[in-house]
Amino acid sequence: MNEKCASCASCGFPLHEPSDFASGDPLSIYCAGCVDSEGRLKSYEEVLAMNARWLEENQGLDASAARRMAVALMAELPAWKGRAQA
Ligand SMILES: [Zn+2]
Repeated sequence: MNEKCASCASCGFPLHEPSDFASGDPLSIYCAGCVDSEGRLKSYEEVLAMNARWLEENQGLDASAARRMAVALMAELPAWKGRAQA
């Protein structure tokens, strides 16, 4: 399970502290930001919007560039890998 540094299977966010994990559960493969209050994975669109907003704020990208980058990032992540590209 710990063959590599844990990161969220949905958004790629690094998971270090228990509080980083969904529901504070270190066995979860998702981060706290990617699940709803019941611990279920949010929709692709919700996670995409969250990711794009993070990139805008932290990488200084404009909205459309941030969204394109988020789409590309999420295409590589286990939670969304099989999903057809929009
Ligand atoms: Zn996440």
